[in-house]
Amino acid sequence: MSKVIPLADRRPASGADDARLAFVREAAFGAAPPAAAPADGLGRLLHDLRISVTDRCNFRCVYCMPKDVFGRDYPFLPHADLLTFEEIARVAARFVELGVRKIRLTGGEPLLRRNVERLVELLAGIAPDLDITLTTNGSLLARKARDLAAAGLKRVTVSLDSLDDATFRAINDADFPVAKVLEGIDAAAAAGLAPVKVNAVIKRGVNESSIVPLARRFRGTGHIVRFIEYMDVGATNGWRMDDVVPAAEIVATLGREFPAAPVEKNYQGEVAERWRYLDGGGEFGVIASVTQAFCRDCTRARLSTDGKVYTCLFATDGWDLRTLLREGASDGQLRSAIAAIWRQRSDRYSEIRTAETAKERKVEMSFIGG
Ligand code: SAM
Ligand code: SF4
Ligand code: SF4
Repeated sequence: MSKVIPLADRRPASGADDARLAFVREAAFGAAPPAAAPADGLGRLLHDLRISVTDRCNFRCVYCMPKDVFGRDYPFLPHADLLTFEEIARVAARFVELGVRKIRLTGGEPLLRRNVERLVELLAGIAPDLDITLTTNGSLLARKARDLAAAGLKRVTVSLDSLDDATFRAINDADFPVAKVLEGIDAAAAAGLAPVKVNAVIKRGVNESSIVPLARRFRGTGHIVRFIEYMDVGATNGWRMDDVVPAAEIVATLGREFPAAPVEKNYQGEVAERWRYLDGGGEFGVIASVTQAFCRDCTRARLSTDGKVYTCLFATDGWDLRTLLREGASDGQLRSAIAAIWRQRSDRYSEIRTAETAKERKVEMSFIGG
């Protein structure tokens, strides 16, 4: 029997919810339209928007949606609670007016949302220079890559934590084979969604031995593997600091096999630390979200499946835009609400993480997207 978390627990709610909605309403309906590009309380501008298009997934990765919590009876969101594609595109357009240049679709597993390519098309219509990407577990990519590219998707990130089938199946806990994900990566590249980024979360004692084989497999292909430190997202994965393999250790492991040198970031706010193989084999990256927090450059907002804005991956509460949308707020009013949410932001969770905060009840990553 699986443990069922009541809906309210999964989507952290608190007595503060009403106050937050009142804040959002006041900002939308009471204030003058904002100037473009507001800065948050720590001077950070809005640059990236991550949109979770579904809270469902066909995998049960042990570090994200452990089966004993996300079991057969788990109360996923009913369809009416999801933002429609038109609602998502309307909100995204307001974010773009306020400075967003990069949109990532995520989830849950975004390719499970029916006709997600239609959403890509709507987003691509917002601005010609918008960078639209998607993070997927790759399971449906071979089937979907071509339509996604045709709809205006620019690139994809595919999660793949090991090339060893037994290890990968144990991590995804859905008996899904490595070969199918590799097929998805090939299909994405063939459809022009390249270079493909390959994300691997490294957990101590689980898949450290996959670091070198993953790097070897993708060297020379143009694809970029990014090794991610295991994080204390949500409240269900039983995170412990001892399970984290620090990025410095990953870099040292790789350096012994393939000499490499650091590369400048592409832009301020890029989360991956980039490394270049000295023999010309391309690049790899490490994302040191735990051991070298990058909050001071964090320019990301997240829109949850049910239309709340979260200003930090580790937030406990979001700001409800769905109510505003369904109450008939105008574009200007939505923009005012988003600007006010961003201006009040002061999040820097990873810089102040302690063993105690790691145990706090936070929103699940599968709900707001990684
Ligand atoms: N289902 C898609 C996928 O797996 O790519 C998109 C959603 S998933 C939540 C986004 C990313 O978050 C994945 O690359 C996943 O490996 C990463 N992720 C999930 N839980 C994590 C954790 N506890 N620590 C670090 N990364 C995690
Ligand atoms: Fe699903 Fe992605 Fe979470 Fe794995 S990491 S359970 S594929 S949402
Ligand atoms: Fe951004 Fe929050 Fe992560 Fe810091 S902890 S980098 S503020 S999402």
